[in-house]
Amino acid sequence: MTNGRVFNFSAGPSVLPEEVLSIAANEMLNYNNSGMSVMEMSHRSEVFESIINDAENHIRSLMGISDDYKVLFLQGGASTQFAMIPLNLLNKHKKAVYIDTGSWASKAAKEAKKYGEIVTLASSKEDTYSYIPKLDSKTFPSDIDYFHITTNNTIYGTRYTPNTLPNAGEVPLVADMSSNILSEEYDINQFAVIYAGAQKNMGPAGVTIVIIKENLIGNALDMTPTMLNYKTHADKDSLYNTPPCYSIYMCKLVYEWLLKKGGVKAMEEVNKYKANLLYSFIDNSSLFTNPVAREDRSLMNITFVTGNPDLDSAFVKEAKVKGLVNLKGHRSVGGMRASIYNAMPVEGVEKLVDFMKEFEVQHK
Ligand code: PMP
Repeated sequence: MTNGRVFNFSAGPSVLPEEVLSIAANEMLNYNNSGMSVMEMSHRSEVFESIINDAENHIRSLMGISDDYKVLFLQGGASTQFAMIPLNLLNKHKKAVYIDTGSWASKAAKEAKKYGEIVTLASSKEDTYSYIPKLDSKTFPSDIDYFHITTNNTIYGTRYTPNTLPNAGEVPLVADMSSNILSEEYDINQFAVIYAGAQKNMGPAGVTIVIIKENLIGNALDMTPTMLNYKTHADKDSLYNTPPCYSIYMCKLVYEWLLKKGGVKAMEEVNKYKANLLYSFIDNSSLFTNPVAREDRSLMNITFVTGNPDLDSAFVKEAKVKGLVNLKGHRSVGGMRASIYNAMPVEGVEKLVDFMKEFEVQHK
C-alpha cells in the first residue's frame, strides 16, 4: 500500500485495485487523447461507446457469457433489481420462489410481493442466517416464473458454492450476485438472470450489472415504468438515457485488471487462499469464532466474534490504529466482518491475521 492508504475491509463501497486507481488518476484530465475526462464526455461519443463496448466484452469473456444473454449497465443499485425482476418476469404464473438467506434476500422477496405470489421455500432466519438451507429439488413448485437466490450473503458471510446451487430445472434461476460476482467460477449457464451492484467487486457505486437471457426480455407487466423495463435498455445497448458513464469506465478498468491477473479462475485461487488464511486462524483460535456452517462459508465476507461485545469494539478500534479499517460487523449482527474482495491484497489479510494473533495473546 502506498500514499498512506489503509487496508480497507469495507463491505461496500469497498477497496479497488491500486493499479486501477492509478490508471484512472493518470487518465483523469485527458482520456486517450480525447482532450477531456471520461466524466465530461457525451455518452453518445465514439470514445465512450468504445469504453462501454470494451466493458461489456471484458465481462463476457471473464464470465463466459454467450450471445444469448444481454449484458446491461443500469442505475438504481441491486435494490432496484428487487423490483425489476418481478416486474419483468412475473408474467405467466404470477408466482416465484425465493430462498431467504439474509436481509437482502428477504428485502428482494418483500419487494416482489407487490407484484405477485411469492413463496419463501426455505429460510435460515431462525438461526441468524448462519447457513444456506439444503433443498430437495423434488419439492420445488413448477408453476412459477422464476426461482430467486442470493449467491453471497454480505452481512452473514454465507454463500452458495458453484456446486451447491439449487437445480431449478427449466425454471429460470435468478441470482443477486452483488457481493461475489467475479470472485469464483460459477457456470453462467445455470442462471437465467444475474444482477449485481458494482460497488463491491467491480467498481465504484452507481452502476448495476444485469446479465439476462434474451428470451426473458420483452414480456414485462403492463404497469412497468419505462426505465424499469429490461427491453428499454436492451434495445438501446444500455444507452436509452445517460448511463453512469464514469462508473462503467471504472468497471472496464477493473475488468482489464482481472484479465491481466488471469481471470476469474486465477482470482478464485487467490480468494480461496486469502479466505483460508482467516478461517484456519479463527478455527484454531482460543478467542475468535466464526458462526457460519463450514460448507457455506463466504470467500468474500468473513464474520467473527470474540463473544464479548466490549472486546469486539476494542478490536475494531485497535485494528483501525494499525491501518486495518472498516472491520465492524453489520449493525444488525454486531461482531466483526472482514470483506476481502478481489482487490484486497493477500498482504492485507496477512496483516489482519497477525493483528488478530496479537490481540488474542493480549486478551487470553
Ligand atoms: N444485495 C446484496 C447481496 C448486497 O450486499 C447489497 C448491498 N449491501 C444489496 C443487495 C443492495 O445493493 P444496493 O445498495 O446496490 O442497492
